[in-house]
Amino acid sequence: MTKIITKWTVFVLFTTIYERKLRVKTIDFNLTSLYILSGDSMKRMGNILEDAKQKKYAIPQFNINNLEWTKNILEACQKENSPVFLGVSTGAVKYMGGYNVVRQMVDGLIRDLGITIPVILHLDHGTSVDECKKAVDANFDSIMIDASHYDLETNIKMTNEVINYAKDQLIEAELGTIGGTEDEVTGNLQFTKLDDAIEFIKNVNIDLLAPSLGSVHGLYKSKPDIQFDLMNQIFNAVNTPLVLHGGTGLSDEIIRKSIRLGICKININTEFQVAWNEAIRDFINKNPNEYDPRKIISSGAAAIRDVATQKIHLLGSNNKG
Ligand SMILES: [Zn+2]
Repeated sequence: MTKIITKWTVFVLFTTIYERKLRVKTIDFNLTSLYILSGDSMKRMGNILEDAKQKKYAIPQFNINNLEWTKNILEACQKENSPVFLGVSTGAVKYMGGYNVVRQMVDGLIRDLGITIPVILHLDHGTSVDECKKAVDANFDSIMIDASHYDLETNIKMTNEVINYAKDQLIEAELGTIGGTEDEVTGNLQFTKLDDAIEFIKNVNIDLLAPSLGSVHGLYKSKPDIQFDLMNQIFNAVNTPLVLHGGTGLSDEIIRKSIRLGICKININTEFQVAWNEAIRDFINKNPNEYDPRKIISSGAAAIRDVATQKIHLLGSNNKG
């Protein structure tokens, strides 16, 4: 990877688990950062999805917004020995300065904090093929192309454009429309049709499918109504690891049942925001004269770590790193 000072170049021959064609990859790696850059870890990245599918646990996707969230999430995941997708929306990318900033921040933290768990830097809801290409160019590990608001044919076409441009990245795509609002993503819930899912998977070689099954982004305005039968039918028909977006506000029971039915990755974003917000407000109220930014911002750290730890145990990803 060009972002790191190249010391060695290795040629790693590998196949991914989802019948991707045999490819020869060139991976540059730095000896001080063997985990994230070695061929072995690239294989582990794909293998953890298969492991999750077989052993019936889900890998968390925790969305990040800044250095502090990333640091605390990584430390919590390392403590629990859990693999993690670090989700970054296009809005969060813009906020932090760009794709390269995010990639290098994550790499720096992995190295300086001695993080050894699989860390998969993931573009969440890539809103266009161009955005996805930028994430590929910055060496993100995983890309979600969200063309779900287009018709099936266009969704297939756009998803394939990203697949063809990607190097070794995992690819996630959405089908149907997940409702609610989160960051810059707003959708009117439209359930995924089983026939569409079958047709979609026949035409795109993706690693993760995010169907719309009743979960929504942001906070739920009414009781979540998850279509478990549809979830089960889709998973049995396509056998692709499924992603559940809108994990905030779903009961533990819903999450456990979803994992039993084929959900391998669960995205959690809003819950961190709510917990962090409460902690920060509480600190500021109790310490009105405090002006040290590090003290103010870090007063939300425990809340971030607590949410991460609790979700890791709920998803069963602890000790799977
Ligand atoms: Zn989402």
